[in-house]
Amino acid sequence: MSTTLPTRTDVLVVGAGPAGLTLTTALALAGVDHVTLEPKTQVAPGAKAAGVQPRTLEYLDRLGVGERLVARGVRGAGFALREGDEDLLRVSYETLDSPHPYLLLVGQDVTEQTIADRLAEVDGTLFRGHRLLTWQRTWPGVLATVAGPDGVVRTVEARYLVGADGLHSPVRESSGIEFRGDSPAALFALADVHLDLEGSADTDTAFFLAPDGVALISPMPDGMHRVVASVPPGTSPPSATDVEKVLATRTGGVLRSAHVRDIAASTTYRFQQRVAARLVDGPVALLGDAAHTHSPAGGQGMNTGIQDAADLAWRLTEILRHGAPESLLEGYDRERRPVAEELIAFTGQLTALATLTDPRLGALRNTVLAAVRGIPAVTDFLAGRLSQLDIGYGSGDGVQAGNRLPPAALPTPLAPEWVLADPDTTATRTHGRVRVVPAPTLPTTALVRPDGVVDALGITGEQAEQHLGELA
Ligand SMILES: Cc1cc2nc3c(=O)[nH]c(=O)nc-3n(C[C@H](O)[C@H](O)[C@H](O)COP(=O)(O)OP(=O)(O)OC[C@H]3O[C@@H](n4cnc5c(N)ncnc54)[C@H](O)[C@@H]3O)c2cc1C
Repeated sequence: MSTTLPTRTDVLVVGAGPAGLTLTTALALAGVDHVTLEPKTQVAPGAKAAGVQPRTLEYLDRLGVGERLVARGVRGAGFALREGDEDLLRVSYETLDSPHPYLLLVGQDVTEQTIADRLAEVDGTLFRGHRLLTWQRTWPGVLATVAGPDGVVRTVEARYLVGADGLHSPVRESSGIEFRGDSPAALFALADVHLDLEGSADTDTAFFLAPDGVALISPMPDGMHRVVASVPPGTSPPSATDVEKVLATRTGGVLRSAHVRDIAASTTYRFQQRVAARLVDGPVALLGDAAHTHSPAGGQGMNTGIQDAADLAWRLTEILRHGAPESLLEGYDRERRPVAEELIAFTGQLTALATLTDPRLGALRNTVLAAVRGIPAVTDFLAGRLSQLDIGYGSGDGVQAGNRLPPAALPTPLAPEWVLADPDTTATRTHGRVRVVPAPTLPTTALVRPDGVVDALGITGEQAEQHLGELA
């Protein structure tokens, strides 16, 4: 990898959190000229995203990261809403139609490091110790100033500027794109702890709904557990005793004897619920927390940013490598912004439900949950939604344009590439940039985008090649 910051590039990615690292890896694999900037000199530890959803793993498989990450995490069976030892509602991942029918529980730093390792293997251009200072539009792209680790400020000319620079995104803030939404007052305490738990082999991420608030407990690798609790304003980061108290009082006695051996991380946080008014503005695009932020309930934030990267990467590749018009980026905003908006509504409702403080409403909630727990339509809906497998851009369910094609229909491994899944072929072949692969279980052919989404149905290899030509 070069150690000198280039003076021009096609894509300047700002930020190497999970979204920026994923985008950079996909661009590197596609041979798109890029430079990624990140002030941190290495992946920072910290208690952030602990759950990697099946849809994320399916895309990370395409980047060559999935298997390695799975080896470093714990396979969680799903989510449970509990009152004491009773499951009010259980959302199982075990029957999901995915090669990864589990919630992978692993620290965000491990996820980032695993993607960063792959990025280094595929010669991605990541400049650590480099921070974006300012930028301005210089048609058709931008001119950015960057501070390097030597304190020297350099300029980089870029055709596209991509803000993967987190919640306080300097790219978004200096672009004038509004970040609409609100900041609920709710405060949460979080601790990653080693617990002595008698005989527990539970791999569910469990929300205990108690009269004085919610307590979440989730297994993590290396015998750790994450504990999150709603707390009153002004509460300090939890001590071992605080965690033991939460477990004793909010689990209906189930975890009353849990003993905290040590605390690896302890913090409190509030969340915001906001979406950028536009994800694309001329040569500027936003993804990840720079584009949307919401309650961590259900473990969606990092995962949504990774899916943004999957969508943005193939569009930038078509424009920069294959001559597609810039308007192809409008589809990124059209597809991903509604996903972020719906996510805010969904995670907001989950959080409101879990943190009810009125005892009568809490009792009513628990009765309703217990009543719907045996209805497969409810639990299947929640599993499809939380795992992100059911997120699509078309209308309707099943194999349709705009929906994910379940990987079981395709041979593996697949790269982030255009694939024509063909029930009538027995051997893989290529048509220009389209790889035609056997898909005996499909009723008709399906052209699948590099992010795993069906683009068109019932077309031939020639038509698929022509279709890609028409993107240009
Ligand atoms: C307590 C907590 C718990 C969470 N739990 C979950 C969970 O269970 N599941 C889940 O999916 N999500 C969870 N999240 C959310 C998740 O952590 C974020 O959604 C995720 O980190 C967003 O990734 P990102 O790449 O968009 O941004 P970030 O991870 O914030 O990365 C942005 C990067 O941009 C860099 N940057 C900033 N300014 C500049 C600049 N000027 N120049 C260059 N680079 C810059 C930063 O250094 C940073 O590395 C949680 C978050 C918190 C705080």
